[in-house]
Amino acid sequence: MTPSQEAHDAAQTEAPTVLVKIFGKDRPGITAGLFDTLAAYWVDVIDIEQLVTRGRITLCALVSAPSGGEDEGALRATVHSWAESMGMDAEIITGTGDNQPRGLGRSHVTVLGHPLTARSTSAITASITSTGGNIDRIFRLAKYPVTAVEFDVSGAGTAELRTALAQEAARHKVDVAVVASGLHRRAQRLIVMDVDSTLIQDEVIELFAAHAGCEAEVAEVTAQAMRGELDFEQSLHARVRLLAGLDESVVEKVREEIRLTPGARTLVGTLKRLGYQVGVVSGGFTQVTDALQESMGLDFASANTLEVVDGKLTGRLTGEIVDRPGKARLLRRFAEEAGVPLKQTVAIGDGANDLDMLNAAGLGVAFNAKPVVREAAHTAVNVPFLDTVLYLLGITRDEVEAAEITD
Ligand SMILES: [Mg+2]
Repeated sequence: MTPSQEAHDAAQTEAPTVLVKIFGKDRPGITAGLFDTLAAYWVDVIDIEQLVTRGRITLCALVSAPSGGEDEGALRATVHSWAESMGMDAEIITGTGDNQPRGLGRSHVTVLGHPLTARSTSAITASITSTGGNIDRIFRLAKYPVTAVEFDVSGAGTAELRTALAQEAARHKVDVAVVASGLHRRAQRLIVMDVDSTLIQDEVIELFAAHAGCEAEVAEVTAQAMRGELDFEQSLHARVRLLAGLDESVVEKVREEIRLTPGARTLVGTLKRLGYQVGVVSGGFTQVTDALQESMGLDFASANTLEVVDGKLTGRLTGEIVDRPGKARLLRRFAEEAGVPLKQTVAIGDGANDLDMLNAAGLGVAFNAKPVVREAAHTAVNVPFLDTVLYLLGITRDEVEAAEITD
């Protein structure tokens, strides 16, 4: 800090200041009217904050105490008389200096509720306090399809907040994301998503299995993998083998059957408008992900490829296998191609085979995931709307609507 800056800060701390708070029915001209009134006193503006809740405006102005012969009593009288003429309440408090500097350790805490209850808000805010955090700012990001509120917190470590709030989130069935504050948050420029049960509602292998008449067998192999009797790659090969002999024309039918997750188009469309690059990695099949890449305008897509010979599926895969480590490897590759540092990537997935990718990303989001995935990820979304991920990135519903994309 330079000597002049130090002097300036000391002066700021010691200087007499006047806090003016106006509250009442919002309408155009309130802020202009207040400052027109204050302008008569040649005071300097130190801070202004305004918010509107259900049509009521709260406007706070922190100004230097009047000098040059004007006395504070006159300022008070003028502001009160202006407020009365407008039908507003005014409160004027004399003091010194500006806000206390914010504590070290800054995070954004986003809370998503469906609904957001007073009880869960109480638990979350109490938990922030118990970690030593102070809430410096609160604002609503969205009221639809969930209520999303962001708390700017200082004075507590991001990791400590994450741990403490994850417990409260689970207990109160709300989703909470804690992200370190800083420029990099706005610079997150690559999002990579899992496909099955994340970008789409279906498991593609099950759709194929239905056409092959082997749903039960595929389900049994899936169950074995869940029980840990088979690893992902073994179970993938075992399930694909069951599709041997299926006519290639089924691919087109499966493409038509897949259902996007609610909010998927809004998520992708908004991110693209905001300049993000968006990719998918799937343990499913390129026969489906290529079509998704095309229809959704995705920058990257990678998946396993079903081998087709003479118009029939052979029950084998060709090319590089996308499994649990493969997904993390692809995230790194996409990040490199996009020119985005790994720390500035976001990964979204629901399955155990997404965990390496979720942990490798700057922010790993478990989407309606199994508990084991939810607990290991940085954050979890448990409402069935993919666009709520936007709020975790601090993007507001207004920004989403400005992008004019609807599902
Ligand atoms: Mg999945």
